[in-house]
Amino acid sequence: MSRTARRIILLGPPGAGKGTQAERLARRLHVPHVSTGELFRQHVGGHTPLGQEAEASMRRGDLVPDAVTLGMVAERLAEPDAVEGAVFDGFPRTTAQAEALDQLLADRGQRLEVAVLLEAPREELVERLTGRRLCGACQATYHVRWSPPAVPGRCDRCGGALMARPDDEEATVVRRLEVYDTETRPLVAYYAASDRLLTVDGLGSVGDVAARLEEVLAPHD
Ligand code: AMP
Repeated sequence: MSRTARRIILLGPPGAGKGTQAERLARRLHVPHVSTGELFRQHVGGHTPLGQEAEASMRRGDLVPDAVTLGMVAERLAEPDAVEGAVFDGFPRTTAQAEALDQLLADRGQRLEVAVLLEAPREELVERLTGRRLCGACQATYHVRWSPPAVPGRCDRCGGALMARPDDEEATVVRRLEVYDTETRPLVAYYAASDRLLTVDGLGSVGDVAARLEEVLAPHD
């Protein structure tokens, strides 16, 4: 019987590359990529009641309250595509969320197998986030210095207009990193205590990091 880990968290500060790696990993494992940040942005864009509740916290770089986040995640995990597993990105972000996720999965006879900590130095995180640009139409990502589009401000893929995420502005980035230190970093100890923590160096190209991730996950295949 295959022991392939199918419920995986990518843990780490904003800018560590969780989104990019989670998307690739989820595709490889044939499970959904569950990004709470992305789900919140969809709610904000769609002007739903949940989006209205989340928007102010997001704009400040603070966390959305646990009850709101957990309700949204429970709903997402109830969708049929999440039966086989999920790669979580940006969730959990507090100890209460981590405990609730363990409980939610236990109630279904499931288990979070591994948390992978992606690390990168602080200056690198700030530079990655403040230089990040997104296509408003197809969500392709660019960086003003490291992966600029051929035509400034235009998406190579679809020609859409590029924009910065409102919370990637420097003062908000600094706040998000502070919030990571106080609220989310304790999860490293939480997963280490239950022997579920793996660590990957997040510096280097997307391909380099993906290869490292594959290597640390290989024993769990
Ligand atoms: P991200 O795209 O993961 O950087 O998330 C963007 C923003 O969404 C965060 O700065 C928070 O305001 C909010 N958010 C995303 N995930 C969570 C979570 N698990 N708990 C609380 N707030 C979250």
